[in-house]
Amino acid sequence: MNFSLPSAEYLACLSNCVCCPRGCRADRFHGPLGYCQTGAGFEIASICLHCGEEPVLTGRTGICNIFFSRCNLQCQYCQNYQISRNREDVISRKLNLDQVARQIEEKMDQGVKCVGFVSPSHVLPQMEMIMQGLKKRGRNPVFVMNTNAYDKTERIAALEDRVQVYLPDLKYLDESLAIHLSDAPDYPEVASRVLREMFRQKGPELKLDKEGVIESGLIVRHLVLPGQVENSKQVLRFIAEELSPGVYISLMSQYSPIPAVAGDTNLGRHLSPEEYGEVVEEMERLGLEHGWIQEMAGSGHYKPDFARQHPFKE
Ligand code: SF4
Repeated sequence: MNFSLPSAEYLACLSNCVCCPRGCRADRFHGPLGYCQTGAGFEIASICLHCGEEPVLTGRTGICNIFFSRCNLQCQYCQNYQISRNREDVISRKLNLDQVARQIEEKMDQGVKCVGFVSPSHVLPQMEMIMQGLKKRGRNPVFVMNTNAYDKTERIAALEDRVQVYLPDLKYLDESLAIHLSDAPDYPEVASRVLREMFRQKGPELKLDKEGVIESGLIVRHLVLPGQVENSKQVLRFIAEELSPGVYISLMSQYSPIPAVAGDTNLGRHLSPEEYGEVVEEMERLGLEHGWIQEMAGSGHYKPDFARQHPFKE
């Protein structure tokens, strides 16, 4: 099946790009490219089944995740650095919309219900084209937006009827960390606005189907960084006090140092059980009872390798 050309809105967005808060105004068709170094096409690192996520997302079969190449944040410690760096070669394949849709359909034919877009903030027009393309093929998966939360609030508002599940990764509410670690001084302000908008749309409850697979809702992820316990507590306080203690949280201990931060006092090591315990205690103290607390199992267990065809399989 052929897809119709992208709408004028997409073309306008990509030719003078203000898709994300960086607001580069780059012409992504002709260059020069903007901060994310991403053109107007579908540059994809992997479309794969992932079973190691929160059980409501994976169900029996796993979630079909689409990992886009590059990112609008450049976190020093990025756990997916093989695909996210903007100034280095990354794992990336240029596909067309039909090829993307077919790969997703293959997974859906195996019983997959959820289709996740991972770090899509710099490719929202492409994400929307994929959603539209699947709908045109008669497919109605649960769309999951797994974003770093460095998004424009109006863009999230526009997705209200199209994205069923928001899975934001709330990184920091500490401005100095946002500057130092992610080159985004306004991250705390932007991300907290985005989270409020997501909460306005979805509220604290998750809607599940008969098999316990999510149909709609908001799950906030937070990766605890070594040496940054206070930031994690601040993130949890924001969720409990400014959204609701009923929000589902996925607290993650899986941080693993990457080569770029080797030697850094904090980022160059793993999280300690004491640090994680302190954050878990704060979660309990705040009455945040919904969600998942990852165990302190070996962090290597969760580490993907995008050089493999199946990045999450050993
Ligand atoms: S999506 Fe990329 S080009 Fe567009 S504003 Fe953001 S960083 Fe700049």
